[in-house]
Amino acid sequence: MSPTIPSGVTVVDHPLVKIKLTELRAADTTSAVFRQRLCELATLMAFEVTRSLDSRPHRIRTPLAEHEGAVLARPLVLAPILRAGLGMLEGMLKILSDASVAHIGLFRNEETRQPESYYFKSPRNLAEADVIVADPMLATGGSATLAISQLKERGARSLRYVCLVSCPEGIARLHSAHPEVPIYTAAIDPELNDRAYIVPGLGDAGDRYFGTVADNG
Ligand code: URA
Repeated sequence: MSPTIPSGVTVVDHPLVKIKLTELRAADTTSAVFRQRLCELATLMAFEVTRSLDSRPHRIRTPLAEHEGAVLARPLVLAPILRAGLGMLEGMLKILSDASVAHIGLFRNEETRQPESYYFKSPRNLAEADVIVADPMLATGGSATLAISQLKERGARSLRYVCLVSCPEGIARLHSAHPEVPIYTAAIDPELNDRAYIVPGLGDAGDRYFGTVADNG
């Protein structure tokens, strides 16, 4: 029996997503393949997370005739959480090339174990935009919760959160702080270990993506 999916969470279980995520998880996947798969997964996840965006009619002329097509109703802002979120950004921009980007720099204070902000730069139109926050891993939920709070403080109202691997603890924390923000994930893993790594997970996504691997959980 498959586990119950929490409300507000979409698990994207497309076969291509499952297959690419399996490669991403494998410890013997090279850095080059890891980068490629993370980018491809982000593109596939972007397809799903944008499914619910509003569009409006847009009239154009083809070489043959008038045609009523569509454009997005609101500007789109992608908000990767640094560092690993940058890997998702590359893949999402492949199909969302008109999006603006908000960079959210957070680090974990090892004494308090809480995320702290070191950088935030966003476009000015957050209040009018659909904002998609991206980070491959939703572990404790601390960074995701803070990132979304920062975006809301600057006016963002329509937010979505996308990750690749999540766990019940992170989902619960994010959902309790921001219950109206839909969460899109490729997998919900069972647990966190005592160092806040997702198990089985895929290790440290930032280290594997940027080739700085020292420790993976
Ligand atoms: N961040 C990661 O990169 N991996 C985890 O397992 C948890 C947080």
